[in-house]
Amino acid sequence: ENVAITELARLMGIKANEIVKKLFEMGVMANINQSIDAETAQLLGAEYDIEVVVKVVTEDDLIPKYEDKPEDLKPRPPIVTVMGHVDHGKTSLLDKIRRTKIAEKEAGGITQHIGAYEVDLPQGKLVFLDTPGHEAFTTLRARGAQVTDIVILVVAADDGVMPQTKEAIDHSKAAGVPIVVAINKIDKPNANPEHVKSQLAELGIIPEEWGGSHQFQEVSAKTGQGIDELLERVLLEAEMLELKANPKRPAECVVIEAKLDKHRGAVATVIVQNGTLKKGDVFVVGAQYGKVRSMFNFIGRTVKEAGPSIPVELMGFSEVPEAGEKLIVLPNEKLAKQIADMRKEKKREKEMLEKSKVSLTDIFSKIQEGELQELNIIIKADVQGSVEALKSSLLKLSNPEVKVQVIHDGVGAISESDVLLAAASNAIIIGFNVRPDAKAKAAAEREKVEIHLYSVIYDAIEDVKKAIEGMLTPET
Ligand code: GDP
Repeated sequence: ENVAITELARLMGIKANEIVKKLFEMGVMANINQSIDAETAQLLGAEYDIEVVVKVVTEDDLIPKYEDKPEDLKPRPPIVTVMGHVDHGKTSLLDKIRRTKIAEKEAGGITQHIGAYEVDLPQGKLVFLDTPGHEAFTTLRARGAQVTDIVILVVAADDGVMPQTKEAIDHSKAAGVPIVVAINKIDKPNANPEHVKSQLAELGIIPEEWGGSHQFQEVSAKTGQGIDELLERVLLEAEMLELKANPKRPAECVVIEAKLDKHRGAVATVIVQNGTLKKGDVFVVGAQYGKVRSMFNFIGRTVKEAGPSIPVELMGFSEVPEAGEKLIVLPNEKLAKQIADMRKEKKREKEMLEKSKVSLTDIFSKIQEGELQELNIIIKADVQGSVEALKSSLLKLSNPEVKVQVIHDGVGAISESDVLLAAASNAIIIGFNVRPDAKAKAAAEREKVEIHLYSVIYDAIEDVKKAIEGMLTPET
């Protein structure tokens, strides 16, 4: 932490030449354009009887804070992600909603693909994320961004609960996002919605009619049956969440998609989380800063501003931002550049001492420091019996300092989706008689997620037990 001599001179109210002279007397050779370290600055201060306090300025100190007045908080539309097992009709449902619910004249028959679209109902507006599935959802979360307010879980009535149905439930639960169930393909002769309901009830997703808290709707993405009712249920669920934001403040957004366009350069779709994004706004996103040059809504029309929950495609980046990054509007370019520079510096530092998210070897010290109250674990095994055995034994390791939680479990190889969930929820992965596939391996390396593989259940339990008690000897 260094301070420029000119800056220090200004703060102390002493001429910079004078300071250089004094430093020379103290045996420090510096010219007027240089910086000195914090310790030297403090010694220098003592010479003048001025107390120099060292405080490192972070971007938090620089970004202006806005207090939202209660009367400025306005309801905002819910942002919805569709999840479910492959072939259960996620894409069909999104397409059907898009085709039937977006007024033809408005869209001119075509909607752009910008990664999200808006639906207007008499009861209110909804925003749909266009990339279905829990992978996209959890990728955003792994990067620190939670965009989705409500999950529509699609389950095919002729197929029932499948492995990815369960994954979608676990990913939604880990994120604390409520689920509305769409029992799809109800038009099929072999549809059995009652069976789906009882299967879901076993997983804790219980319909209201059975005394639970989840809304269910039977739909057909083919015929369109039940879709209006489904959307109404989602709006009802949203009402209970009391989603609010302040359209009057400068915008905070999340990047949901970004690409390099041949003609337009770097473009990205962002969703406004709070405030109103306006043409000409100066922003910082990741380690770059920029200015909103133009903005398009989901039907490709130019817009001048976008309020809370609204997706827009933007131009005005110097490089392609990453999905999941926050885009924050700042009062001026100077500040935006300063923050972008700080982030570049920080990124460099971080890359140098990159460590894993949670590691069995540092669990104990994290518990001791009060940094870790919950140890999240994902279990994958070759057979269900082993999953259950591991799960019940691991849960018993909870003690007053740390609660052991199994946030997801299943039979089969460790997948990329498991790794993303671990990254998003700061979990470790335990594999029993299974291995990570190639994609999972790569993701684990990228996301710094620890995977521990065992072929003896006792060993797995012993390792976690020792880790919690601080008795684990680091692997060499
Ligand atoms: P996704 O993998 O979950 O996105 O599933 P898709 O939307 O690709 O649908 C898988 C298959 O199921 C496709 O052949 C669809 O035409 C079909 N499908 C989807 N929804 C329905 C439905 O409500 N009824 C019937 N009969 N078929 C459907």
